[in-house]
Amino acid sequence: MAEQSKALPAWFLDRFESLLGAGQLVVLTGAGISAESGIPTFRGKQGYWVVGSREYQPQEMATRAMFTRNPEAVWAWYLYRRGVCRRAEPNPGHRALVELEQSLGDRFCLVTQNVDGLHIRAGNSPPRTYQIHGNIDHARCAEACDRHVWRLPEGLGLDMKRGQALTADERGRLRCPRCNGWARPQVLWFDEYYDEEYYRFDSSIRAAASAQILLVMGTSGATNLPLQMGQHAASAGALIVDVNLEANPFSRLAQASGGIFLQGQCGEVLPGILSRLHLT
Ligand code: NAD
Repeated sequence: MAEQSKALPAWFLDRFESLLGAGQLVVLTGAGISAESGIPTFRGKQGYWVVGSREYQPQEMATRAMFTRNPEAVWAWYLYRRGVCRRAEPNPGHRALVELEQSLGDRFCLVTQNVDGLHIRAGNSPPRTYQIHGNIDHARCAEACDRHVWRLPEGLGLDMKRGQALTADERGRLRCPRCNGWARPQVLWFDEYYDEEYYRFDSSIRAAASAQILLVMGTSGATNLPLQMGQHAASAGALIVDVNLEANPFSRLAQASGGIFLQGQCGEVLPGILSRLHLT
């Protein structure tokens, strides 16, 4: 059964506070935490993108296969989404995670599937923030002529509208500075694999396996590394806390392993928990 955040059970608050006192907290976030900042999740109509006369879902757009067929359409979609992300501001859910990091220091680790960069903009530190699906502000060579990752030019395509095509200037600025081939977004596509170098795969698994608390916020649990993290944390006996608007694989894992499913919005539930604790 899901718990409502206003009625946080005493056993949960006691256990959470005592584990926080000495243990490792690993937080796993998904698109849900940024939904309250106005960034759409991948579900629903706002996730679709039109190329030519056809509507594509994110699972089709965010692929190497689509980029190979039509790099301009894929870049137009990413520049549009980058504009949405850059106009968004961190919300109380993001800020509560900054408070937790400030209080826990090295006992805090944040693993995010979000590419919007809002955790870093809110104040979480880059070394303790693993962006396991990349960052929409960054690019690298599509042909991997080297491994360099760079920040996209500041104003590039930030006012891109839905359905708009790249301009000649934008096309020219989306090139690899070394080989002049196409640049690509520094994001993990659906037909690619995680690695350590770009996406912190090993570090995320290690963090989950040594966590005393795994706090999962706003993810549907549809991707592989987050699910593996949940299994590692559960096997190691961690307290699993899932915050989501609806039931999902993590809420079931939490409940099956003695943890808790807190049904509600990230930006209300986590500040609500913190207001009941005595963080230093
Ligand atoms: P998802 O879109 O599949 O699912 C979002 C989840 O968040 C759902 O379970 C939903 O019930 C929950 N949710 C929505 N609003 C919420 C709220 N206010 N509070 C609590 N829960 C809420 O997203 P996902 O599971 O994170 O991952 C799918 C992929 O989407 C990832 O690869 C991610 O990189 C990408 N993505 C990222 C962004 C972003 O960077 N902000 C946005 C859209 C998609």
